[in-house]
Amino acid sequence: MAVSDYTGQAALTAVDLVNSLDVITGRDRLRDGEDAAALLARHHWEVGRTVSAADLERLRELRPRLRFVFGGTPVQKSVADLNALLRDLRAQPHLTDHDGAWHWHYARPRAPLGERVATSCVVALLTAIADGGAGRLRICDGADCANVFVDASRPGLRRYCDTKSCGNRAHVTAYRERKRTRSVG
Ligand SMILES: [Zn+2]
Ligand SMILES: [Zn+2]
Repeated sequence: MAVSDYTGQAALTAVDLVNSLDVITGRDRLRDGEDAAALLARHHWEVGRTVSAADLERLRELRPRLRFVFGGTPVQKSVADLNALLRDLRAQPHLTDHDGAWHWHYARPRAPLGERVATSCVVALLTAIADGGAGRLRICDGADCANVFVDASRPGLRRYCDTKSCGNRAHVTAYRERKRTRSVG
């Protein structure tokens, strides 16, 4: 998988992985190999119906280390941690044309799935920091939401993980607040 810009699928994979564990309610949507396969398939990774226990474990333990770099962690700390992760993963960037077009792979050749996904996620977040600054890695402003997101919008003013749910909910709350203040006054 290639990471050409920080809106790429690897960055979305990283975000989806982190958000699979709701740190407010403790609800975990990455409980078994099938959960992991479904999440990865959403981001066009080639996987079967399930992933191995070792791959699942790799992805589960990656989540807190990826979450760490969102929401205002000092950039030096984030970069040092992500670089260390790449070292742990024994990343080995190389160019390949296995599917007919030259593109980057970041993991060791024939690395297991969990390692390939982890490596791509880390590279994507480092690329996001290099391209847009660490401030682009945010936590949702929604009241009951701690989802992370990468703000790839041009102005860089995005506040919510998903404008369809959290953003709307915030608008509705603000609207009700205004109405209530008006009727009281
Ligand atoms: Zn490839
Ligand atoms: Zn949210």
